[in-house]
Amino acid sequence: MNKETYMGVDVSPLSYEEITKELNQRIQDNQQSTIIAVNPEKIIASQNDETLRDLINGSTYQIPDGVGVLLASRLKGGEIRSRVTGVDMMDRLLQMAAEEGYRVFFYGAKEEVVSKAISNIQETYPSIQVAGYENGYVQDQEALIQKINDAKADIMFVALGSPKQEQWIRANKERLPVKVFQGVGGSFDVYAGHVKRAPAPFRKVGMEWFYRLATDPKRIKRQMALPKFLFRVITKK
Ligand code: UDP
Repeated sequence: MNKETYMGVDVSPLSYEEITKELNQRIQDNQQSTIIAVNPEKIIASQNDETLRDLINGSTYQIPDGVGVLLASRLKGGEIRSRVTGVDMMDRLLQMAAEEGYRVFFYGAKEEVVSKAISNIQETYPSIQVAGYENGYVQDQEALIQKINDAKADIMFVALGSPKQEQWIRANKERLPVKVFQGVGGSFDVYAGHVKRAPAPFRKVGMEWFYRLATDPKRIKRQMALPKFLFRVITKK
């Protein structure tokens, strides 16, 4: 797979279907994989943070979450034409897990959020095998590692916010039987129904960021990364 690189940060050009298919094969082959969502905010942050950049580039798949990466790819003659969002990627993996019988572990968010998210997921995918879960504020990390091992989890979603969740995955993946790790940020909140996604028309035309800004103006600080990122991509020879 030829990754595209923007400001030193790799982005995987694969679609949901291509990633899911590869992951299924990698699970069969006993290979561990990690998925991280990439957006302009993370690319800008990684300019002054080598550890963050290594964390992103060291992942198996860097999915293009965010319309900014699509624009950059178009401007630079790349091939990325559609977003691969963290929450939709998670949904494809849940579907695969339900079909293939893979065991899923959920770690992160508040207790009531993660438990509600799981019960909603079980309603959508009745055959899903929930290996276990833990809220994101648990203190005893050794007990958590033991719990995940005992649960024989194949796929694990980590929702601690970024880059905390990616750091956690990197620090612990060798001690776990898990084959696929995805850092999913606020996705458990979305599954629990606590955070609403933008209505489909906004998402379709690449304006989810606008909806989120209008409903939560505090995001302006985070969203300033988008124009900054595009400017840097355009002006860089
Ligand atoms: N969170 C957690 N433990 C922590 C800090 C955060 O479980 O120590 C959870 C928090 O409850 C929320 C998620 O991590 O569910 C953070 O989501 P956010 O939208 O901030 O992440 P982003 O997608 O912006 O990285």
